[in-house]
Amino acid sequence: MAVTVKVVARPAGIRGHTYLVAVAEGMWVTFRHLMKNFPGNVLGLRKKTDIATLSYPEEKQAYPARNRGLHRLMKRENGDVRCVACMMCPTVCPAHCITIVPEEAPDNAVEKRPRIFEIDELRCVVCGLCVEACPCDAIRMDTKVHAPPTLRRADAILDMEALLARGEPSIATQGGTGPFWREKV
Ligand code: SF4
Ligand code: SF4
Repeated sequence: MAVTVKVVARPAGIRGHTYLVAVAEGMWVTFRHLMKNFPGNVLGLRKKTDIATLSYPEEKQAYPARNRGLHRLMKRENGDVRCVACMMCPTVCPAHCITIVPEEAPDNAVEKRPRIFEIDELRCVVCGLCVEACPCDAIRMDTKVHAPPTLRRADAILDMEALLARGEPSIATQGGTGPFWREKV
């Protein structure tokens, strides 16, 4: 495809020869906003709803009920991790930030369990697809907790111990409710 150059005509008159008019127009806009906000800002008369920014961290945004927070791994009734290392979540994760190394479970209740389960919270894009994909209700993001700031990249990688520390026994039925789930809706 041929590259073309669009020639923009210089404005006629004084505007075409000096930037002063444009600078004055810009200053006028700034001055207008200053005058509009000045008394309210100085005297503290502005309503909270008029202010578009928050003085974080003293003021914090109220999150919606369905906000996705830091991950957590759920536990079974006996305290074991619910995850059966099915690899659905690392497969669906668009950021490739979930690392699972499975191992054989010692009991007959489940076939596998994770030996290593890590999430790199710095790479996570908080899409929630891992939660959607999990067939066991083993991973959730309903903590309302932000990923904490870290000085070292390695500190942003949460291991299974850290993920389980926020977990709790899940009341979901392992493996779903069977073929008659439609009758229960
Ligand atoms: S929320 Fe999205 S990006 Fe983050 S771990 Fe889950 S699937 Fe990956
Ligand atoms: S989808 Fe659920 S059960 Fe499967 S590996 Fe991820 S957390 Fe574990």
